[in-house]
Amino acid sequence: MGFDIQPELLALARNVEDGLGEVFRAIDSNARAWGEKLLWTFSKARVSEAAFRGSCGYGYGDMGREILDKVYSLAFDCESALVRHNFVSGTHALSVALFGVLRPGDVLLSVAGQPYDTLTQVIGIGEGEKLEGICAGSLRDFGVEYRQIDLTADGKLDFEAIKAQAKSAKVVYLQRSRGYSLRPAITIEEIKALNECVKAINPEAILMVDNCYGEFVENMEPSAVGADLIIGSLIKNPGGGLAETGGYIAGKKSLVELASYRLTAIGMGSEVGCTLNQTRYMLQGFFMAPEVTANALKTAAFARGLFRALGYRCLPEEGEKVSDIITVLVLENEKALCAFCKGIQKGAPVDSFLTPEPWDMPGYDSKVIMAAGAFTAGASIELSADGPIRPPYAAWIQGGLTFPTGRMGILLAAQEMLDSGLLQI
Ligand SMILES: *Cc1c(COP(=O)(O)O)cnc(C)c1O
Repeated sequence: MGFDIQPELLALARNVEDGLGEVFRAIDSNARAWGEKLLWTFSKARVSEAAFRGSCGYGYGDMGREILDKVYSLAFDCESALVRHNFVSGTHALSVALFGVLRPGDVLLSVAGQPYDTLTQVIGIGEGEKLEGICAGSLRDFGVEYRQIDLTADGKLDFEAIKAQAKSAKVVYLQRSRGYSLRPAITIEEIKALNECVKAINPEAILMVDNCYGEFVENMEPSAVGADLIIGSLIKNPGGGLAETGGYIAGKKSLVELASYRLTAIGMGSEVGCTLNQTRYMLQGFFMAPEVTANALKTAAFARGLFRALGYRCLPEEGEKVSDIITVLVLENEKALCAFCKGIQKGAPVDSFLTPEPWDMPGYDSKVIMAAGAFTAGASIELSADGPIRPPYAAWIQGGLTFPTGRMGILLAAQEMLDSGLLQI
């Protein structure tokens, strides 16, 4: 009974874990602070059993919906929040926020290079249906100008370039997480400095942060250091593995209101929208989220420790401040990447018997391999790994609802590489 992990690999894993005591203590102490804050938040927002009842139809006067918004805004230190199951994904929530606040003639300035792949079509700089050369229905199609400032060679915000362009921007847009790139995540400290830099030049600018994968990783969110809007997905960190779908937009009241007009209709905003039976999952998931995020962070730290010991380059680098749940393992060849993903799939609680194969995913110029076996389809707060089949053959891994299962997933991935003769101990 049980998984077959080679004794040498188990010994190495024990060694790696022995060295992670301090890292794990820091993760636990951050989760504890968030847990205490959330408990206070739930009490302050007067979460009650009646809030779980949900609604159908228009959803007028849905008390649970209002309480959920209140819980998020208190936890994230901001005026207002719009937390809804009918955001179909993080991209949808980001799109609603962008279309909610930008007007024809405005400038959208991205300050950490090109945003996440799925947003390029929203902005109008990606592939997709074109009308006279412009993505139909995109921000560009509506007359919003897009400008971009890349990170410096060492992955930092380019403050000189930002100073030069901040004046003309309506929205200064920042993606906090590394996403599918090799650049570092942007830390809360850097976001604070960015806010100060931008507002000194242009107090009217809206600092909008794509907060996907960042929630609960540090001791506060970007909204606590001046970000005017933060946006994320509920099948990532803040759903705690329980939310079945959804997203959130949180920040300044007037801006959240504008976004709510885009989600529903002008004049209705956040006052309508039935919650069906989702409110309890969303509230309980949020309550669990700091602990679940801590498990994902421990899984990530263990993966980096183990694969560093096996001789691979792993990101975030040793000693680098962690500000999202993503880890990149640079596996250097196709076979290693495929074996790794195969092992991760074996360690999933759902669909463990499937074998992931590289496939041509729409919007990518090379094949992509993905391993995921999740209770919630596509939820990447659950252990998952993927990577494009091209140099440097890196696996992006994230999630892990519990550390014991996340750890075993990583061990099975390493064991699969050993079994395929791609690794020796
Ligand atoms: C996940 C993610 C998004 C949104 O992706 P969806 O798959 O639409 O939820 C946007 N930005 C970043 C950095 C992400 O990680």
